[in-house]
Amino acid sequence: MAITRLLIANRGEIALRIHRAAREMGIETVAVHSTADADAMHVRLADHAVCIGPPAAKDSYLNVAAIISAAEIAHADAIHPGYGFLSENAQFAEIVEAHGITWVGPKPEHIRTMGDKVEAKRTAGALGLPLVPGSDGAISDPVEAAKIAAEIGYPVIIKAASGGGGRGMKVCNGPDELETLMQQAGSEAKAAFGDATVYLEKYLGNPRHIEFQVFGDGNGNAIHLGERDCSLQRRHQKVLEEAPSPVISPEERDRMGGIVAKAMADMGYRGAGTIEFLWENGEFYFIEMNTRLQVEHPVTEAITGVDLVREQIRIADGKPLSVAQEDIEFHGHAIECRINAEDPWTFAPSPGLVNNYHAAGGMHVRVDSGLYAGYKIPPYYDSMIAKLIVSGRSREGCIMRLKRALEEMVIGGVKTSIPLHQALMNEPDFIHGDYTIKWLEEWLAKRQS
Ligand code: ADP
Repeated sequence: MAITRLLIANRGEIALRIHRAAREMGIETVAVHSTADADAMHVRLADHAVCIGPPAAKDSYLNVAAIISAAEIAHADAIHPGYGFLSENAQFAEIVEAHGITWVGPKPEHIRTMGDKVEAKRTAGALGLPLVPGSDGAISDPVEAAKIAAEIGYPVIIKAASGGGGRGMKVCNGPDELETLMQQAGSEAKAAFGDATVYLEKYLGNPRHIEFQVFGDGNGNAIHLGERDCSLQRRHQKVLEEAPSPVISPEERDRMGGIVAKAMADMGYRGAGTIEFLWENGEFYFIEMNTRLQVEHPVTEAITGVDLVREQIRIADGKPLSVAQEDIEFHGHAIECRINAEDPWTFAPSPGLVNNYHAAGGMHVRVDSGLYAGYKIPPYYDSMIAKLIVSGRSREGCIMRLKRALEEMVIGGVKTSIPLHQALMNEPDFIHGDYTIKWLEEWLAKRQS
């Protein structure tokens, strides 16, 4: 039963990205949108569009009943959730499937397992992935916690089992503050995620964030597409990503990639996934798995030539992986800059009218964005308005190309993070690939003083 009409349950650049892959496969698209997005590019380009509610995401892009109704009204036979919103909601995936609609995503049980960090860690450990030392599952007894913390050594980090988006974490530097911080973490987690469960982990002092892209066909075959380095973060939010990582050798990529691909094969994983690790002193430590497409997927596409969204749609359609592990070759380098509508130095959001727009172009330059001149960036959603991705034979070449492309980009009328990226391109540490997850915040603090 081939997919003929795909509903895209998302907005912005990722809705466009999915639309483009679908059209290239001869599949019609159905956009859904809030009233605030009636003029958005994803609505303009889609073959069909259905309004699903008012601006607030909870009433529109998170409104399961409205999205399912839209799929039925528009006769969509498949739903792609993109990233964010309902993409990692196992119950939504089940509801989609219960309506006889193809879910372009992993099996609901895998979404559920990996969405609970305690379960995810247990599963990853059983599959042979290296873990951050810590408590064996959830922990509530402070005496027991103190014993474990003493064993693994301070500092430790208390994390919420249901946490996400960098929230629900507390770093604890010694035994005297452990009990208080556990209580705080638990009640904050309860308030934010409705689940007070916490667990303990060794706090790594200065790691890099390195993640592997994986794909499974759901029948025990899986591949990896190498790693991405996403260490440039502010408040645990990624700012710039690159592939390959400046610190991973081809041998290490093959070795670790082999381990994650085997884990996915053993699990019977279906679709796209990302296995996130912290990396310190040459060692990988699993932190979580994302059971969806990532914002930064284009850097992997650039160095492998594989269209990841096309692959997702094919797999959802019951087709085998289009490439075998031995077909995957890594060519050159790619870097993505996330461009947000915000003040580049204070990070205050800057929505509003884009009165002028010109996207960078030229060789090996890709801009994924729903912007156009005259578009009004609504204040209700994520501030990311464009992704600029460049590729080239070498990392140095990519940096030169990014400097040139950032100069060409014109986004008039609102503040953007372009000046931040331009400043980064001239930083010796960045140029040498010499950075960890702490680097960007320290650099920003230095600039401010
Ligand atoms: P979330 O789902 O909220 O994004 P993650 O488990 O992926 O949570 O962690 C987010 C970020 O928090 C990581 O990229 C890293 O910067 C930091 N972090 C998480 N665990 C640790 C740890 N054990 N040691 C040091 N930093 C950590």
